[in-house]
Amino acid sequence: MRERLEELRGEGLAAVEVASTEDDLREVEVGLLGRKGGITAALKALGKLPPEERPLIGQLANEVKVAIQGAIDVKRSTLGQAALSAELSGEGFDATLPGPALPGGGQHPIQAITRELEDLFLSMGFRIADGPEVELEENNFDALNIPTDHPARESHDTIWITPESQRQGDGRGVVLRTHTSPVQVRALREYGAPLRVVAPGRVFRQEALDATHEHTFHQMEGLVVDKGVGVGHMLHAMNTLIEGVMGRKLETRLRPGFFPFVEPGFELDARCPFCQDGCSVCKGSRWIELMPGGLVHPHVLESAGVDSSEYSGYAFGLGLSRIVMLRYGIDDIRWFMSGSLDFLRQFPA
Ligand SMILES: [Zn+2]
Repeated sequence: MRERLEELRGEGLAAVEVASTEDDLREVEVGLLGRKGGITAALKALGKLPPEERPLIGQLANEVKVAIQGAIDVKRSTLGQAALSAELSGEGFDATLPGPALPGGGQHPIQAITRELEDLFLSMGFRIADGPEVELEENNFDALNIPTDHPARESHDTIWITPESQRQGDGRGVVLRTHTSPVQVRALREYGAPLRVVAPGRVFRQEALDATHEHTFHQMEGLVVDKGVGVGHMLHAMNTLIEGVMGRKLETRLRPGFFPFVEPGFELDARCPFCQDGCSVCKGSRWIELMPGGLVHPHVLESAGVDSSEYSGYAFGLGLSRIVMLRYGIDDIRWFMSGSLDFLRQFPA
């Protein structure tokens, strides 16, 4: 048995030595180490040896196996290198050809529109403001003239960070912001008047989810505070915004609306861009409710340290998620957060 194994070792190593292709190597590998190979057969025959010989012969068989496998691996690597070098130096190989194209990423449609609108407002002399998504109750409600017992707090379906048992009603509770308006408050405090600012960002509400309601959505809020600012200025900014988003002018109208932080408050409607005489988007009315806005309530100015006898202002809010749905005809708000690549690939990169 011992002689037979040594013989196999000699044969194997010699065969590896002369092998000149991957196929040759494969043949040696299968012939010696495969299921029906010579060394495998020797290992299987161990059981027929006298017990005292088994350990030594077993060890030798393993040594032979490892030696041959090692030689095969080294030779295989050498052959691979040689084949690659031959390919690289051969005719018809052009190292300057471009490689395979990598799949390109793109912007999320909400991100893309946010950038577009930021550019638009920067061109109109606004600054872009940012604020925390986890916000003090005071900034989210109190400073916006929404007192503790105000129904707006309930209607906002706030997601609280502070547990109910620990809320004191002193404005120190912590919430996920329910709108981007607290950024106005922060910007006013930081920069004072006069001020032109837009604040895009994510907002959060506890909603029953459906095609038009999502727990996380996007808004962009605008605030202008200056001397002699009025409704005409506001209307101009809103119309410019709509034209920027929809790519064309739409007929608009103002209706009275109520929001605690503006007085008077308005709802701006735009002509339905999808129909001439009523469709499912405008529910047959030919008007789409697009943007709330109004003249900033004096309490809001005062609570940010701005003298309301000297300055006035207007504010408007735009549901970014909603406007992106309108622009691209998206029928379900939940697509935005779905993470679906099939959905995202439909938008220009
Ligand atoms: Zn319509």
